[in-house]
Amino acid sequence: MTQCPECEAIVESHDMVLGEVFPCPDCGTELEVLGTDPFAVQPAPKEAEDWGE
Ligand SMILES: [Zn+2]
Repeated sequence: MTQCPECEAIVESHDMVLGEVFPCPDCGTELEVLGTDPFAVQPAPKEAEDWGE
């Protein structure tokens, strides 16, 4: 398992696959699976890039 980069909630891999996008169960931020072993996530890129740098 790993932590949400936004709210630090614990997120676990439930048979997720590389590149899968899912919402954080705690804050709802869209997360993209960066790796499965070890499990790692990053905030998923938004289609509308209007939130600065
Ligand atoms: Zn979160």
